[in-house]
Amino acid sequence: MSDRETRHAELAERFLPDALIERIRARAADTDRENTFFTADLDELRAQGYLTVFVPEEFGGPGLSLHEVSRLQQRLAGAAPGTALATNMHLMCTGVARAMRERGDRSLDRVFAEAMAGEIFAFGISEPGNDFVLSDSTTAAVPQSDGGYRLTGTKIFTSLSPVWTRLLTHGVDASDPASPQLVYGFLTRGTPGITISDQWDVLGMRASQSRATRLDDVALAAERVVRRLPVGPDPDLLTFAIAANFQLLIGSVYAGLARRALDVAAAGLRSRRSAKAGAALAEVPESRVRLADALYELLPVTAMLDATTRDFDELVNHGSGWSVRLVGARLHATAAARRAAEVALLCAGGAGYNAGHEASRLFRDAAAGMFHPPAADAARPLFAAALLDTENDRGDDRGDERGDERSAVTRSASGTQR
Ligand SMILES: Cc1cc2nc3c(=O)[nH]c(=O)nc-3n(C[C@H](O)[C@H](O)[C@H](O)COP(=O)(O)OP(=O)(O)OC[C@H]3O[C@@H](n4cnc5c(N)ncnc54)[C@H](O)[C@@H]3O)c2cc1C
Repeated sequence: MSDRETRHAELAERFLPDALIERIRARAADTDRENTFFTADLDELRAQGYLTVFVPEEFGGPGLSLHEVSRLQQRLAGAAPGTALATNMHLMCTGVARAMRERGDRSLDRVFAEAMAGEIFAFGISEPGNDFVLSDSTTAAVPQSDGGYRLTGTKIFTSLSPVWTRLLTHGVDASDPASPQLVYGFLTRGTPGITISDQWDVLGMRASQSRATRLDDVALAAERVVRRLPVGPDPDLLTFAIAANFQLLIGSVYAGLARRALDVAAAGLRSRRSAKAGAALAEVPESRVRLADALYELLPVTAMLDATTRDFDELVNHGSGWSVRLVGARLHATAAARRAAEVALLCAGGAGYNAGHEASRLFRDAAAGMFHPPAADAARPLFAAALLDTENDRGDDRGDERGDERSAVTRSASGTQR
Protein backbone atom coordinates (compact mmCIF):
# COMPACT_ATOMS: atom_id res chain seq x y z
CA MET A 1 0.00 0.00 0.00
CA SER A 2 1.36 3.44 -0.88
CA ASP A 3 1.84 6.10 1.80
CA ARG A 4 -1.18 7.94 0.49
CA GLU A 5 -3.37 4.86 0.59
CA THR A 6 -2.09 4.07 4.09
CA ARG A 7 -3.19 7.53 5.20
CA HIS A 8 -6.62 7.06 3.61
CA ALA A 9 -7.00 3.81 5.55
CA GLU A 10 -5.93 5.53 8.79
CA LEU A 11 -8.39 8.37 8.23
CA ALA A 12 -11.17 5.88 7.51
CA GLU A 13 -10.39 4.07 10.75
CA ARG A 14 -10.25 7.34 12.70
CA PHE A 15 -13.37 9.07 11.36
CA LEU A 16 -15.52 6.26 9.91
CA PRO A 17 -14.44 3.01 11.55
CA ASP A 18 -15.96 -0.23 10.29
CA ALA A 19 -18.26 -0.62 13.29
CA LEU A 20 -19.68 2.89 12.83
CA ILE A 21 -20.17 2.29 9.11
CA GLU A 22 -22.09 -0.89 9.86
CA ARG A 23 -24.33 0.88 12.40
CA ILE A 24 -25.04 3.67 9.91
CA ARG A 25 -25.78 1.13 7.16
CA ALA A 26 -28.12 -0.77 9.45
CA ARG A 27 -30.11 2.40 10.20
CA ALA A 28 -30.43 3.49 6.55
CA ALA A 29 -33.35 1.17 5.84
CA ASP A 30 -35.28 2.61 8.80
CA THR A 31 -34.75 6.27 7.94
CA ASP A 32 -35.78 5.54 4.35
CA ARG A 33 -38.90 3.57 5.29
CA GLU A 34 -39.99 5.95 8.04
CA ASN A 35 -38.93 9.05 6.06
CA THR A 36 -37.02 10.42 9.05
CA PHE A 37 -33.85 12.42 9.49
CA PHE A 38 -30.58 10.57 10.28
CA THR A 39 -30.42 11.85 13.88
CA ALA A 40 -28.53 8.88 15.33
CA ASP A 41 -26.00 8.91 12.46
CA LEU A 42 -25.39 12.62 12.94
CA ASP A 43 -24.85 12.21 16.69
CA GLU A 44 -22.25 9.53 16.05
CA LEU A 45 -20.56 11.40 13.22
CA ARG A 46 -20.31 14.48 15.41
CA ALA A 47 -18.83 12.45 18.29
CA GLN A 48 -16.31 10.98 15.86
CA GLY A 49 -15.15 14.47 14.85
CA TYR A 50 -16.45 14.02 11.30
CA LEU A 51 -18.10 17.44 11.16
CA THR A 52 -14.76 19.21 11.66
CA VAL A 53 -12.59 17.30 9.16
CA PHE A 54 -11.91 20.38 7.02
CA VAL A 55 -11.05 22.65 9.96
CA PRO A 56 -7.34 23.57 9.80
CA GLU A 57 -5.08 22.44 12.61
CA GLU A 58 -4.48 26.02 13.82
CA PHE A 59 -8.22 26.19 14.57
CA GLY A 60 -8.17 22.86 16.41
CA GLY A 61 -9.32 20.60 13.57
CA PRO A 62 -7.55 17.78 11.74
CA GLY A 63 -7.13 19.84 8.53
CA LEU A 64 -8.01 17.15 6.00
CA SER A 65 -7.72 17.94 2.31
CA LEU A 66 -10.56 17.82 -0.23
CA HIS A 67 -9.02 14.65 -1.65
CA GLU A 68 -9.10 12.99 1.77
CA VAL A 69 -12.65 14.12 2.51
CA SER A 70 -13.74 12.92 -0.94
CA ARG A 71 -12.56 9.42 -0.07
CA LEU A 72 -14.30 9.55 3.31
CA GLN A 73 -17.53 10.74 1.74
CA GLN A 74 -17.38 7.84 -0.73
CA ARG A 75 -17.08 5.50 2.25
CA LEU A 76 -19.98 7.12 4.14
CA ALA A 77 -22.19 7.09 1.04
CA GLY A 78 -21.57 3.38 0.69
CA ALA A 79 -23.30 2.97 4.05
CA ALA A 80 -26.10 5.54 3.80
CA PRO A 81 -26.33 7.79 0.73
CA GLY A 82 -28.90 10.15 2.28
CA THR A 83 -26.73 10.68 5.35
CA ALA A 84 -23.69 11.34 3.18
CA LEU A 85 -25.50 13.71 0.80
CA ALA A 86 -26.86 15.89 3.59
CA THR A 87 -23.61 15.83 5.60
CA ASN A 88 -21.98 16.93 2.36
CA MET A 89 -23.66 20.34 2.63
CA HIS A 90 -22.05 21.01 6.02
CA LEU A 91 -18.70 19.68 4.83
CA MET A 92 -18.95 21.79 1.71
CA CYS A 93 -19.44 25.03 3.65
CA THR A 94 -16.43 24.26 5.86
CA GLY A 95 -14.48 23.12 2.79
CA VAL A 96 -15.19 26.44 1.07
CA ALA A 97 -13.79 28.35 4.07
CA ARG A 98 -10.76 26.07 4.00
CA ALA A 99 -10.18 26.51 0.25
CA MET A 100 -10.44 30.28 0.53
CA ARG A 101 -7.98 30.42 3.40
CA GLU A 102 -5.50 28.29 1.44
CA ARG A 103 -5.78 30.81 -1.38
CA GLY A 104 -5.09 33.76 0.92
CA ASP A 105 -8.67 34.87 1.70
CA ARG A 106 -9.53 34.69 5.40
CA SER A 107 -13.00 36.20 5.16
CA LEU A 108 -14.71 32.92 6.09
CA ASP A 109 -12.34 31.94 8.92
CA ARG A 110 -15.08 32.30 11.54
CA VAL A 111 -16.70 29.21 10.00
CA PHE A 112 -13.90 27.13 11.57
CA ALA A 113 -14.54 28.31 15.14
CA GLU A 114 -18.26 27.83 14.65
CA ALA A 115 -17.83 24.31 13.25
CA MET A 116 -15.58 23.47 16.22
CA ALA A 117 -18.30 24.84 18.53
CA GLY A 118 -20.83 22.44 16.99
CA GLU A 119 -22.69 24.70 14.58
CA ILE A 120 -24.16 22.87 11.58
CA PHE A 121 -23.96 24.53 8.19
CA ALA A 122 -26.48 24.08 5.39
CA PHE A 123 -26.49 25.29 1.81
CA GLY A 124 -29.56 27.37 0.94
CA ILE A 125 -28.89 28.25 -2.70
CA SER A 126 -31.38 26.34 -4.92
CA GLU A 127 -34.55 28.27 -5.71
CA PRO A 128 -37.57 27.36 -7.83
CA GLY A 129 -36.90 28.26 -11.45
CA ASN A 130 -33.44 29.76 -10.85
CA ASP A 131 -31.26 27.78 -13.22
CA PHE A 132 -28.58 30.47 -12.97
CA VAL A 133 -28.03 29.00 -9.45
CA LEU A 134 -24.96 30.82 -8.07
CA SER A 135 -24.84 33.68 -10.53
CA ASP A 136 -28.34 35.06 -9.85
CA SER A 137 -31.11 34.72 -7.30
CA THR A 138 -34.87 35.18 -7.05
CA THR A 139 -34.48 36.12 -3.38
CA ALA A 140 -34.63 39.84 -2.63
CA ALA A 141 -31.86 41.26 -0.42
CA VAL A 142 -32.95 44.70 0.79
CA PRO A 143 -30.02 46.73 2.14
CA GLN A 144 -30.21 48.16 5.66
CA SER A 145 -28.50 51.25 7.03
CA ASP A 146 -26.21 49.15 9.24
CA GLY A 147 -24.72 47.22 6.29
CA GLY A 148 -26.96 44.19 6.75
CA TYR A 149 -29.83 43.01 4.53
CA ARG A 150 -33.34 41.67 4.84
CA LEU A 151 -33.95 38.59 2.70
CA THR A 152 -37.24 37.46 1.18
CA GLY A 153 -37.48 34.40 -1.03
CA THR A 154 -37.82 30.60 -1.22
CA LYS A 155 -34.94 28.14 -1.09
CA ILE A 156 -35.71 24.57 -2.10
CA PHE A 157 -34.10 21.26 -1.19
CA THR A 158 -32.30 22.57 1.91
CA SER A 159 -30.64 19.38 3.16
CA LEU A 160 -30.19 19.12 6.95
CA SER A 161 -33.44 21.08 7.45
CA PRO A 162 -34.17 19.64 10.91
CA VAL A 163 -30.80 20.55 12.40
CA TRP A 164 -28.90 23.28 10.60
CA THR A 165 -27.91 26.29 12.67
CA ARG A 166 -26.18 28.34 9.93
CA LEU A 167 -27.47 28.71 6.37
CA LEU A 168 -25.17 29.84 3.57
CA THR A 169 -27.51 31.65 1.23
CA HIS A 170 -27.77 34.40 -1.35
CA GLY A 171 -30.11 37.10 -2.66
CA VAL A 172 -30.09 40.08 -5.01
CA ASP A 173 -29.77 43.69 -3.87
CA ALA A 174 -31.55 45.56 -6.69
CA SER A 175 -31.50 48.96 -5.00
CA ASP A 176 -29.33 50.22 -7.87
CA PRO A 177 -31.14 48.81 -10.94
CA ALA A 178 -28.12 49.64 -13.11
CA SER A 179 -25.87 47.44 -10.98
CA PRO A 180 -27.73 44.68 -9.12
CA GLN A 181 -25.55 42.93 -6.56
CA LEU A 182 -25.58 39.33 -5.40
CA VAL A 183 -25.26 39.19 -1.64
CA TYR A 184 -23.88 36.04 0.01
CA GLY A 185 -24.06 35.48 3.74
CA PHE A 186 -24.85 33.14 6.62
CA LEU A 187 -28.27 33.22 8.28
CA THR A 188 -28.69 32.05 11.85
CA ARG A 189 -31.45 29.59 12.65
CA GLY A 190 -34.13 31.08 14.82
CA THR A 191 -33.97 34.48 13.15
CA PRO A 192 -37.60 35.67 12.76
CA GLY A 193 -39.03 35.10 9.28
CA ILE A 194 -37.47 31.69 8.59
CA THR A 195 -40.03 28.93 8.00
CA ILE A 196 -39.06 25.34 7.22
CA SER A 197 -41.57 23.40 5.13
CA ASP A 198 -43.10 20.25 6.55
CA GLN A 199 -43.37 18.75 3.02
CA TRP A 200 -40.86 15.98 2.27
CA ASP A 201 -41.96 12.71 0.69
CA VAL A 202 -39.56 11.98 -2.14
CA LEU A 203 -38.27 9.03 -4.15
CA GLY A 204 -34.81 8.66 -2.59
CA MET A 205 -32.25 10.34 -0.34
CA ARG A 206 -35.14 10.57 2.11
CA ALA A 207 -32.96 10.79 5.22
CA SER A 208 -31.49 14.08 3.96
CA GLN A 209 -34.81 15.81 4.79
CA SER A 210 -34.02 18.49 2.22
CA ARG A 211 -37.12 20.58 2.86
CA ALA A 212 -37.91 23.99 1.40
CA THR A 213 -36.96 27.08 3.42
CA ARG A 214 -39.10 30.20 3.23
CA LEU A 215 -37.42 33.51 4.05
CA ASP A 216 -39.75 36.42 4.88
CA ASP A 217 -37.91 39.66 5.60
CA VAL A 218 -35.17 37.76 7.43
CA ALA A 219 -32.34 39.82 8.91
CA LEU A 220 -28.88 39.01 7.54
CA ALA A 221 -26.53 40.79 9.95
CA ALA A 222 -23.79 42.97 8.46
CA GLU A 223 -21.04 40.83 10.01
CA ARG A 224 -22.61 37.74 8.43
CA VAL A 225 -22.37 39.09 4.89
CA VAL A 226 -19.44 37.41 3.13
CA ARG A 227 -19.61 38.75 -0.43
CA ARG A 228 -21.27 41.33 -2.66
CA LEU A 229 -20.79 40.44 -6.33
CA PRO A 230 -22.27 41.70 -9.57
CA VAL A 231 -25.16 39.56 -10.80
CA GLY A 232 -23.88 37.18 -13.48
CA PRO A 233 -20.74 35.06 -13.70
CA ASP A 234 -17.97 36.75 -11.80
CA PRO A 235 -14.34 35.78 -11.27
CA ASP A 236 -14.62 35.44 -7.51
CA LEU A 237 -12.90 33.03 -5.19
CA LEU A 238 -16.07 32.36 -3.17
CA THR A 239 -18.04 31.02 -6.12
CA PHE A 240 -15.02 29.09 -7.41
CA ALA A 241 -14.59 27.46 -3.99
CA ILE A 242 -18.31 26.66 -3.76
CA ALA A 243 -18.39 25.17 -7.26
CA ALA A 244 -15.32 23.02 -6.66
CA ASN A 245 -16.39 21.70 -3.26
CA PHE A 246 -19.99 21.23 -4.40
CA GLN A 247 -19.27 19.37 -7.64
CA LEU A 248 -16.49 17.15 -6.26
CA LEU A 249 -18.13 16.25 -2.96
CA ILE A 250 -21.50 15.55 -4.60
CA GLY A 251 -19.63 13.40 -7.12
CA SER A 252 -17.95 11.59 -4.24
CA VAL A 253 -21.30 10.69 -2.68
CA TYR A 254 -22.57 9.13 -5.92
CA ALA A 255 -19.27 7.33 -6.58
CA GLY A 256 -19.53 5.78 -3.11
CA LEU A 257 -23.12 4.80 -3.80
CA ALA A 258 -22.04 3.20 -7.10
CA ARG A 259 -19.26 1.21 -5.43
CA ARG A 260 -21.64 -0.11 -2.80
CA ALA A 261 -24.15 -1.03 -5.50
CA LEU A 262 -21.53 -3.31 -7.07
CA ASP A 263 -21.03 -5.10 -3.74
CA VAL A 264 -24.79 -5.54 -3.41
CA ALA A 265 -24.83 -6.85 -6.99
CA ALA A 266 -22.05 -9.35 -6.24
CA ALA A 267 -23.84 -10.54 -3.10
CA GLY A 268 -26.99 -11.06 -5.18
CA LEU A 269 -25.14 -13.16 -7.75
CA ARG A 270 -23.50 -15.26 -5.05
CA SER A 271 -26.76 -15.97 -3.25
CA ARG A 272 -28.96 -16.82 -6.25
CA ARG A 273 -28.90 -20.03 -8.26
CA SER A 274 -29.84 -20.77 -11.83
CA ALA A 275 -31.70 -24.05 -12.29
CA LYS A 276 -30.85 -23.97 -15.98
CA ALA A 277 -27.13 -23.56 -15.35
CA GLY A 278 -27.17 -25.74 -12.27
CA ALA A 279 -24.90 -23.23 -10.57
CA ALA A 280 -24.88 -20.00 -8.61
CA LEU A 281 -25.48 -16.94 -10.78
CA ALA A 282 -21.97 -15.90 -9.80
CA GLU A 283 -20.80 -18.70 -12.10
CA VAL A 284 -23.04 -17.77 -15.03
CA PRO A 285 -21.05 -15.95 -17.74
CA GLU A 286 -23.77 -13.39 -18.60
CA SER A 287 -24.03 -12.36 -14.95
CA ARG A 288 -20.27 -12.13 -14.54
CA VAL A 289 -19.99 -9.96 -17.64
CA ARG A 290 -22.72 -7.62 -16.38
CA LEU A 291 -20.86 -7.09 -13.11
CA ALA A 292 -17.47 -6.88 -14.80
CA ASP A 293 -18.71 -4.13 -17.13
CA ALA A 294 -20.13 -2.18 -14.21
CA LEU A 295 -16.79 -2.17 -12.36
CA TYR A 296 -14.97 -1.31 -15.58
CA GLU A 297 -17.24 1.73 -16.00
CA LEU A 298 -16.79 2.90 -12.43
CA LEU A 299 -12.98 2.92 -12.35
CA PRO A 300 -12.50 6.12 -14.40
CA VAL A 301 -15.02 7.90 -12.19
CA THR A 302 -13.08 7.37 -8.99
CA ALA A 303 -9.82 8.13 -10.81
CA MET A 304 -11.27 11.43 -12.04
CA LEU A 305 -12.42 12.36 -8.56
CA ASP A 306 -8.99 11.50 -7.15
CA ALA A 307 -7.16 13.51 -9.78
CA THR A 308 -9.42 16.54 -9.64
CA THR A 309 -9.58 16.77 -5.85
CA ARG A 310 -5.79 16.50 -5.66
CA ASP A 311 -5.34 19.19 -8.30
CA PHE A 312 -7.64 21.44 -6.30
CA ASP A 313 -5.70 20.77 -3.08
CA GLU A 314 -2.41 21.44 -4.85
CA LEU A 315 -3.71 24.77 -6.23
CA VAL A 316 -3.16 23.62 -9.80
CA ASN A 317 -4.20 26.34 -12.22
CA HIS A 318 -6.40 24.78 -14.88
CA GLY A 319 -7.67 28.23 -15.84
CA SER A 320 -10.91 27.97 -17.78
CA GLY A 321 -10.36 24.19 -17.87
CA TRP A 322 -11.64 23.87 -14.30
CA SER A 323 -15.29 24.01 -15.34
CA VAL A 324 -15.35 20.88 -17.46
CA ARG A 325 -13.26 18.98 -14.92
CA LEU A 326 -15.52 19.81 -11.97
CA VAL A 327 -18.84 19.38 -13.72
CA GLY A 328 -17.55 16.38 -15.69
CA ALA A 329 -16.46 14.56 -12.53
CA ARG A 330 -19.84 15.05 -10.89
CA LEU A 331 -21.87 14.13 -14.01
CA HIS A 332 -19.83 10.96 -14.57
CA ALA A 333 -20.29 9.99 -10.92
CA THR A 334 -24.05 10.50 -10.91
CA ALA A 335 -24.46 8.60 -14.20
CA ALA A 336 -22.26 5.76 -12.91
CA ALA A 337 -24.36 5.57 -9.75
CA ARG A 338 -27.57 5.14 -11.75
CA ARG A 339 -26.00 2.44 -13.94
CA ALA A 340 -24.45 0.57 -11.01
CA ALA A 341 -27.72 0.74 -9.05
CA GLU A 342 -29.54 -0.79 -12.00
CA VAL A 343 -26.98 -3.59 -12.13
CA ALA A 344 -27.47 -4.15 -8.38
CA LEU A 345 -31.19 -4.42 -8.90
CA LEU A 346 -30.80 -6.87 -11.79
CA CYS A 347 -28.29 -9.01 -9.89
CA ALA A 348 -30.40 -9.02 -6.71
CA GLY A 349 -33.33 -10.37 -8.70
CA GLY A 350 -36.98 -9.88 -7.81
CA ALA A 351 -36.13 -9.81 -4.11
CA GLY A 352 -34.20 -6.62 -4.75
CA TYR A 353 -37.38 -4.96 -5.95
CA ASN A 354 -38.75 -4.96 -2.39
CA ALA A 355 -38.78 -1.33 -1.26
CA GLY A 356 -36.67 -2.10 1.81
CA HIS A 357 -34.00 -4.10 -0.04
CA GLU A 358 -30.69 -2.23 -0.29
CA ALA A 359 -30.67 -2.61 -4.09
CA SER A 360 -34.04 -0.90 -4.29
CA ARG A 361 -32.96 1.90 -1.95
CA LEU A 362 -29.73 2.50 -3.85
CA PHE A 363 -31.67 2.65 -7.12
CA ARG A 364 -33.98 5.31 -5.70
CA ASP A 365 -31.15 7.24 -4.02
CA ALA A 366 -29.14 7.23 -7.26
CA ALA A 367 -32.04 8.89 -9.09
CA ALA A 368 -31.49 12.07 -7.04
CA GLY A 369 -28.22 12.53 -8.92
CA MET A 370 -30.17 13.74 -11.96
CA PHE A 371 -31.22 16.92 -10.17
CA HIS A 372 -28.00 18.49 -8.94
CA PRO A 373 -26.98 21.54 -10.98
CA PRO A 374 -25.98 21.71 -13.70
CA ALA A 375 -27.93 18.74 -15.04
CA ALA A 376 -26.51 17.02 -18.12
CA ASP A 377 -28.56 19.12 -20.58
CA ALA A 378 -27.54 22.37 -18.91
CA ALA A 379 -23.88 21.30 -18.83
CA ARG A 380 -23.58 20.51 -22.55
CA PRO A 381 -23.10 24.16 -23.60
CA LEU A 382 -20.17 24.31 -21.18
CA PHE A 383 -18.43 21.35 -22.83
CA ALA A 384 -19.18 22.63 -26.32
CA ALA A 385 -17.88 26.09 -25.42
CA ALA A 386 -14.63 24.61 -24.13
CA LEU A 387 -13.85 23.45 -27.67
CA LEU A 388 -15.72 25.87 -29.90
CA ASP A 389 -15.83 29.31 -28.32
CA THR A 390 -13.16 31.87 -27.52
CA GLU A 391 -12.80 33.27 -24.02
CA ASN A 392 -14.57 36.42 -25.22
CA ASP A 393 -17.49 34.39 -26.59
CA ARG A 394 -17.77 32.79 -23.19
CA GLY A 395 -17.90 36.16 -21.50
CA ASP A 396 -14.74 35.64 -19.48
CA ASP A 397 -12.62 38.46 -18.25
CA ARG A 398 -9.22 38.42 -19.89
CA GLY A 399 -7.58 39.05 -16.58
CA ASP A 400 -5.02 37.07 -14.65
CA GLU A 401 -5.13 33.32 -14.89
CA ARG A 402 -6.83 32.97 -11.55
CA GLY A 403 -9.56 35.32 -12.74
CA ASP A 404 -10.17 33.14 -15.79
CA GLU A 405 -10.25 30.08 -13.60
CA ARG A 406 -12.82 31.55 -11.26
CA SER A 407 -15.12 33.04 -13.87
CA ALA A 408 -15.22 29.79 -15.79
CA VAL A 409 -16.19 27.89 -12.70
CA THR A 410 -18.88 30.35 -11.69
CA ARG A 411 -20.49 29.48 -15.00
CA SER A 412 -19.95 25.82 -14.33
CA ALA A 413 -21.83 26.08 -11.06
CA SER A 414 -24.74 27.76 -12.77
CA GLY A 415 -24.40 25.52 -15.80
CA THR A 416 -25.60 28.41 -17.88
CA GLN A 417 -23.98 31.15 -19.87
CA ARG A 418 -25.49 34.54 -19.53
C1 LIG B 1 -31.72 15.01 -2.44
C2 LIG B 1 -31.38 16.41 -2.85
C3 LIG B 1 -30.75 17.26 -1.95
C4 LIG B 1 -30.45 18.58 -2.31
N1 LIG B 1 -29.84 19.40 -1.40
C5 LIG B 1 -29.64 20.70 -1.70
C6 LIG B 1 -29.12 21.60 -0.72
O1 LIG B 1 -28.80 21.22 0.42
N2 LIG B 1 -28.98 22.90 -1.06
C7 LIG B 1 -29.33 23.38 -2.28
O2 LIG B 1 -29.15 24.56 -2.52
N3 LIG B 1 -29.82 22.55 -3.24
C8 LIG B 1 -30.01 21.23 -2.97
N4 LIG B 1 -30.55 20.39 -3.90
C9 LIG B 1 -31.18 21.03 -5.06
C10 LIG B 1 -30.69 20.62 -6.37
O3 LIG B 1 -29.33 20.72 -6.35
C11 LIG B 1 -31.41 21.34 -7.49
O4 LIG B 1 -31.11 22.69 -7.50
C12 LIG B 1 -32.90 21.23 -7.44
O5 LIG B 1 -33.25 19.89 -7.32
C13 LIG B 1 -33.48 21.80 -8.73
O6 LIG B 1 -34.84 21.74 -8.64
P1 LIG B 1 -35.86 22.19 -9.76
O7 LIG B 1 -35.60 23.57 -10.23
O8 LIG B 1 -35.97 21.13 -10.76
O9 LIG B 1 -37.11 22.22 -8.77
P2 LIG B 1 -38.65 22.45 -8.86
O10 LIG B 1 -39.27 21.36 -9.64
O11 LIG B 1 -38.92 23.86 -9.23
O12 LIG B 1 -39.03 22.27 -7.30
C14 LIG B 1 -38.61 21.14 -6.58
C15 LIG B 1 -39.37 21.06 -5.25
O13 LIG B 1 -39.14 22.23 -4.49
C16 LIG B 1 -40.30 22.55 -3.74
N5 LIG B 1 -40.76 23.88 -4.16
C17 LIG B 1 -40.71 24.41 -5.39
N6 LIG B 1 -41.24 25.67 -5.38
C18 LIG B 1 -41.60 25.91 -4.11
C19 LIG B 1 -42.20 27.02 -3.44
N7 LIG B 1 -42.51 28.15 -4.08
N8 LIG B 1 -42.42 26.91 -2.11
C20 LIG B 1 -42.10 25.79 -1.44
N9 LIG B 1 -41.55 24.72 -2.01
C21 LIG B 1 -41.30 24.77 -3.31
C22 LIG B 1 -41.34 21.51 -4.05
O14 LIG B 1 -41.29 20.51 -3.07
C23 LIG B 1 -40.89 20.97 -5.38
O15 LIG B 1 -41.31 19.64 -5.56
C24 LIG B 1 -30.81 19.05 -3.59
C25 LIG B 1 -31.44 18.17 -4.50
C26 LIG B 1 -31.72 16.89 -4.15
C27 LIG B 1 -32.39 15.99 -5.16
